[in-house]
Amino acid sequence: MASCPGVPVGLLKVPEENFRWNSGSRCDTVGVRVLVVEDEVRQADAVRRGLEAEGFAVDVAGNGTDGLWLATEQPYDAIILDVMLPGINGYRVCAELRRRSITTPILMLTAKDGELDEAEALETGADDFLSKPFSYVVLVARLRALMRRGGSTQPVTLVAGNVEVETTRRRCQVDGREVNLTAREFAILEYLMRRRGEVVPKREIVEHVWDFAYDGEDNVVEVHVSALRRKLASPIIETIRGGGYRVQ
Ligand code: CA
Repeated sequence: MASCPGVPVGLLKVPEENFRWNSGSRCDTVGVRVLVVEDEVRQADAVRRGLEAEGFAVDVAGNGTDGLWLATEQPYDAIILDVMLPGINGYRVCAELRRRSITTPILMLTAKDGELDEAEALETGADDFLSKPFSYVVLVARLRALMRRGGSTQPVTLVAGNVEVETTRRRCQVDGREVNLTAREFAILEYLMRRRGEVVPKREIVEHVWDFAYDGEDNVVEVHVSALRRKLASPIIETIRGGGYRVQ
Protein backbone atom coordinates (compact mmCIF):
# COMPACT_ATOMS: atom_id res chain seq x y z
CA MET A 1 0.00 0.00 0.00
CA ALA A 2 3.05 2.24 0.44
CA SER A 3 4.21 2.64 -3.13
CA CYS A 4 1.83 3.00 -6.02
CA PRO A 5 3.72 2.22 -9.20
CA GLY A 6 0.57 2.08 -11.25
CA VAL A 7 -0.84 5.39 -10.05
CA PRO A 8 -1.35 7.81 -12.92
CA VAL A 9 0.70 10.78 -11.78
CA GLY A 10 -1.29 13.09 -13.98
CA LEU A 11 -4.46 12.21 -12.13
CA LEU A 12 -2.99 13.10 -8.78
CA LYS A 13 -1.64 16.38 -10.11
CA VAL A 14 -4.98 17.61 -11.35
CA PRO A 15 -5.51 20.90 -9.52
CA GLU A 16 -8.53 21.05 -7.25
CA GLU A 17 -10.35 23.54 -9.47
CA ASN A 18 -10.05 21.21 -12.46
CA PHE A 19 -12.25 18.74 -10.62
CA ARG A 20 -15.01 21.20 -11.46
CA TRP A 21 -14.30 21.03 -15.15
CA ASN A 22 -17.96 20.70 -15.94
CA SER A 23 -19.67 22.34 -13.03
CA GLY A 24 -22.74 23.01 -15.15
CA SER A 25 -23.68 19.37 -14.89
CA ARG A 26 -22.65 18.92 -11.27
CA CYS A 27 -26.21 18.98 -10.03
CA ASP A 28 -27.18 15.88 -11.98
CA THR A 29 -24.96 13.85 -9.67
CA VAL A 30 -26.41 15.04 -6.37
CA GLY A 31 -27.89 12.09 -4.54
CA VAL A 32 -25.92 9.62 -6.65
CA ARG A 33 -23.89 7.20 -4.54
CA VAL A 34 -20.73 5.64 -5.86
CA LEU A 35 -18.61 2.95 -4.25
CA VAL A 36 -14.88 3.08 -5.03
CA VAL A 37 -13.02 -0.18 -4.34
CA GLU A 38 -9.31 0.60 -4.52
CA ASP A 39 -6.47 -0.31 -2.18
CA GLU A 40 -4.03 2.37 -3.33
CA VAL A 41 -4.81 5.05 -0.79
CA ARG A 42 -3.62 8.09 -2.74
CA GLN A 43 -5.46 7.07 -5.86
CA ALA A 44 -8.62 6.19 -3.97
CA ASP A 45 -8.47 9.55 -2.22
CA ALA A 46 -7.92 11.47 -5.46
CA VAL A 47 -10.87 9.73 -7.10
CA ARG A 48 -13.05 10.27 -4.05
CA ARG A 49 -12.27 13.99 -3.84
CA GLY A 50 -12.81 14.40 -7.56
CA LEU A 51 -16.17 12.65 -7.56
CA GLU A 52 -17.31 14.52 -4.47
CA ALA A 53 -16.47 17.79 -6.19
CA GLU A 54 -18.81 16.66 -8.98
CA GLY A 55 -21.55 16.14 -6.41
CA PHE A 56 -21.41 12.35 -6.02
CA ALA A 57 -21.65 10.82 -2.55
CA VAL A 58 -18.65 8.48 -2.35
CA ASP A 59 -17.68 5.55 -0.15
CA VAL A 60 -14.26 3.94 -0.41
CA ALA A 61 -13.42 0.30 0.35
CA GLY A 62 -9.72 -0.53 0.64
CA ASN A 63 -9.95 -4.23 -0.22
CA GLY A 64 -12.12 -6.71 -2.05
CA THR A 65 -13.75 -8.15 1.05
CA ASP A 66 -14.99 -4.77 2.30
CA GLY A 67 -15.98 -3.79 -1.22
CA LEU A 68 -18.06 -6.92 -1.64
CA TRP A 69 -19.72 -6.40 1.73
CA LEU A 70 -20.58 -2.73 1.10
CA ALA A 71 -21.82 -3.40 -2.43
CA THR A 72 -24.06 -6.14 -1.08
CA GLU A 73 -25.37 -4.20 1.92
CA GLN A 74 -25.80 -0.70 0.48
CA PRO A 75 -27.72 0.64 -2.50
CA TYR A 76 -25.14 2.16 -4.87
CA ASP A 77 -25.79 3.77 -8.22
CA ALA A 78 -22.40 2.67 -9.57
CA ILE A 79 -19.22 0.89 -8.47
CA ILE A 80 -15.67 1.71 -9.54
CA LEU A 81 -13.78 -1.52 -8.98
CA ASP A 82 -10.03 -1.96 -9.23
CA VAL A 83 -8.85 -5.38 -10.47
CA MET A 84 -5.70 -5.66 -8.36
CA LEU A 85 -6.90 -5.80 -4.77
CA PRO A 86 -5.65 -7.57 -1.65
CA GLY A 87 -7.91 -10.37 -0.47
CA ILE A 88 -10.53 -10.93 -3.12
CA ASN A 89 -9.52 -9.44 -6.47
CA GLY A 90 -11.78 -7.28 -8.58
CA TYR A 91 -12.78 -10.02 -11.01
CA ARG A 92 -13.98 -12.22 -8.18
CA VAL A 93 -15.78 -9.34 -6.45
CA CYS A 94 -17.56 -8.57 -9.71
CA ALA A 95 -18.47 -12.18 -10.42
CA GLU A 96 -19.73 -12.67 -6.88
CA LEU A 97 -21.92 -9.54 -7.02
CA ARG A 98 -23.50 -10.75 -10.25
CA ARG A 99 -23.97 -14.21 -8.77
CA ARG A 100 -25.91 -12.53 -5.96
CA SER A 101 -28.06 -10.78 -8.59
CA ILE A 102 -26.69 -7.34 -7.73
CA THR A 103 -26.95 -5.44 -11.00
CA THR A 104 -25.32 -2.13 -9.98
CA PRO A 105 -23.32 -0.79 -12.96
CA ILE A 106 -19.62 -1.63 -12.52
CA LEU A 107 -16.72 0.26 -14.06
CA MET A 108 -13.63 -1.89 -13.68
CA LEU A 109 -10.12 -0.44 -13.52
CA THR A 110 -7.67 -2.74 -15.28
CA ALA A 111 -4.00 -2.46 -14.43
CA LYS A 112 -2.57 -2.77 -17.89
CA ASP A 113 -3.76 -2.10 -21.36
CA GLY A 114 -4.23 -5.74 -22.29
CA GLU A 115 -7.07 -7.22 -24.26
CA LEU A 116 -7.13 -10.26 -21.98
CA ASP A 117 -7.75 -8.12 -18.88
CA GLU A 118 -10.53 -6.27 -20.57
CA ALA A 119 -12.20 -9.39 -21.92
CA GLU A 120 -12.03 -10.94 -18.47
CA ALA A 121 -13.51 -7.82 -16.88
CA LEU A 122 -16.51 -7.97 -19.20
CA GLU A 123 -16.86 -11.72 -18.82
CA THR A 124 -17.13 -11.46 -15.05
CA GLY A 125 -20.03 -9.06 -15.45
CA ALA A 126 -18.47 -5.59 -15.49
CA ASP A 127 -20.31 -3.05 -17.63
CA ASP A 128 -17.25 -1.13 -18.72
CA PHE A 129 -13.54 -0.95 -18.02
CA LEU A 130 -10.85 1.68 -17.97
CA SER A 131 -7.12 0.99 -18.25
CA LYS A 132 -4.74 2.63 -15.82
CA PRO A 133 -3.43 5.23 -16.04
CA PHE A 134 -6.62 7.05 -16.88
CA SER A 135 -7.53 10.69 -16.94
CA TYR A 136 -9.97 11.94 -14.40
CA VAL A 137 -12.14 13.59 -17.06
CA VAL A 138 -12.49 10.28 -18.89
CA LEU A 139 -13.34 8.48 -15.65
CA VAL A 140 -16.21 10.87 -14.87
CA ALA A 141 -17.48 10.76 -18.46
CA ARG A 142 -17.49 6.95 -18.49
CA LEU A 143 -19.19 6.84 -15.11
CA ARG A 144 -21.92 9.19 -16.26
CA ALA A 145 -22.42 7.20 -19.47
CA LEU A 146 -22.63 3.99 -17.48
CA MET A 147 -25.29 5.36 -15.17
CA ARG A 148 -27.25 6.85 -18.05
CA ARG A 149 -27.35 3.41 -19.64
CA GLY A 150 -28.32 1.35 -16.64
CA GLY A 151 -28.37 3.25 -13.39
CA SER A 152 -31.07 4.91 -11.40
CA THR A 153 -30.14 8.30 -12.85
CA GLN A 154 -31.96 7.74 -16.11
CA PRO A 155 -33.58 11.01 -17.17
CA VAL A 156 -37.23 11.05 -16.28
CA THR A 157 -40.03 13.36 -15.34
CA LEU A 158 -41.48 12.37 -12.00
CA VAL A 159 -44.98 13.45 -11.03
CA ALA A 160 -46.71 13.25 -7.66
CA GLY A 161 -49.84 15.25 -6.95
CA ASN A 162 -49.26 18.79 -8.18
CA VAL A 163 -45.47 18.44 -8.09
CA GLU A 164 -43.44 17.68 -11.19
CA VAL A 165 -39.70 17.07 -11.22
CA GLU A 166 -37.42 16.86 -14.26
CA THR A 167 -34.38 14.95 -13.12
CA THR A 168 -31.97 15.83 -15.92
CA ARG A 169 -32.62 19.56 -15.88
CA ARG A 170 -33.07 19.63 -12.12
CA ARG A 171 -36.33 21.51 -12.41
CA CYS A 172 -39.17 21.39 -9.95
CA GLN A 173 -42.62 22.77 -10.64
CA VAL A 174 -45.68 22.99 -8.44
CA ASP A 175 -48.90 23.64 -10.36
CA GLY A 176 -46.71 24.76 -13.24
CA ARG A 177 -44.88 27.27 -11.04
CA GLU A 178 -41.09 26.95 -10.89
CA VAL A 179 -39.70 26.30 -7.40
CA ASN A 180 -36.02 26.81 -6.61
CA LEU A 181 -34.59 24.04 -4.47
CA THR A 182 -31.12 23.55 -3.05
CA ALA A 183 -29.17 20.55 -4.31
CA ARG A 184 -29.90 18.58 -1.11
CA GLU A 185 -33.59 19.44 -1.15
CA PHE A 186 -33.82 18.37 -4.77
CA ALA A 187 -31.98 15.12 -4.07
CA ILE A 188 -34.32 14.28 -1.18
CA LEU A 189 -37.42 15.10 -3.21
CA GLU A 190 -36.20 13.12 -6.21
CA TYR A 191 -35.36 10.13 -4.04
CA LEU A 192 -38.77 10.14 -2.35
CA MET A 193 -40.53 10.55 -5.68
CA ARG A 194 -38.59 7.67 -7.22
CA ARG A 195 -39.76 5.55 -4.29
CA ARG A 196 -43.31 6.86 -4.54
CA GLY A 197 -45.81 5.00 -2.37
CA GLU A 198 -43.10 3.50 -0.15
CA VAL A 199 -42.19 4.56 3.39
CA VAL A 200 -38.57 5.70 3.17
CA PRO A 201 -36.72 5.71 6.52
CA LYS A 202 -34.72 8.83 7.40
CA ARG A 203 -31.58 6.75 7.72
CA GLU A 204 -31.95 5.56 4.15
CA ILE A 205 -32.31 9.14 2.93
CA VAL A 206 -29.18 10.11 4.86
CA GLU A 207 -27.29 7.20 3.34
CA HIS A 208 -28.42 7.94 -0.18
CA VAL A 209 -28.20 11.72 -0.22
CA TRP A 210 -25.22 12.09 2.10
CA ASP A 211 -22.29 9.65 2.39
CA PHE A 212 -22.43 6.25 4.05
CA ALA A 213 -19.71 7.53 6.40
CA TYR A 214 -21.79 10.55 7.38
CA ASP A 215 -22.35 10.05 11.10
CA GLY A 216 -24.58 13.01 11.80
CA GLU A 217 -28.06 12.74 13.21
CA ASP A 218 -30.93 11.53 11.08
CA ASN A 219 -32.77 14.73 12.03
CA VAL A 220 -30.65 16.60 9.50
CA VAL A 221 -33.21 15.11 7.10
CA GLU A 222 -36.08 16.67 9.08
CA VAL A 223 -34.53 20.11 8.71
CA HIS A 224 -34.27 19.73 4.94
CA VAL A 225 -37.71 18.17 4.57
CA SER A 226 -39.37 21.02 6.47
CA ALA A 227 -37.60 23.56 4.24
CA LEU A 228 -38.69 21.52 1.24
CA ARG A 229 -42.32 21.50 2.39
CA ARG A 230 -42.31 25.27 2.89
CA LYS A 231 -41.03 25.81 -0.65
CA LEU A 232 -43.37 23.32 -2.28
CA ALA A 233 -46.43 24.46 -0.28
CA SER A 234 -47.86 21.08 -1.25
CA PRO A 235 -48.87 18.21 1.05
CA ILE A 236 -47.22 15.47 -1.05
CA ILE A 237 -44.60 14.53 1.57
CA GLU A 238 -46.23 12.60 4.40
CA THR A 239 -44.50 12.01 7.72
CA ILE A 240 -44.87 8.41 8.84
CA ARG A 241 -44.60 8.27 12.61
CA GLY A 242 -41.61 6.26 13.72
CA GLY A 243 -40.86 5.47 10.10
CA GLY A 244 -39.80 8.16 7.74
CA TYR A 245 -41.43 9.84 4.79
CA ARG A 246 -43.68 8.85 1.96
CA VAL A 247 -44.73 10.56 -1.25
CA GLN A 248 -48.14 9.47 -2.52
CA1 CA B 1 -5.08 -1.84 -6.70
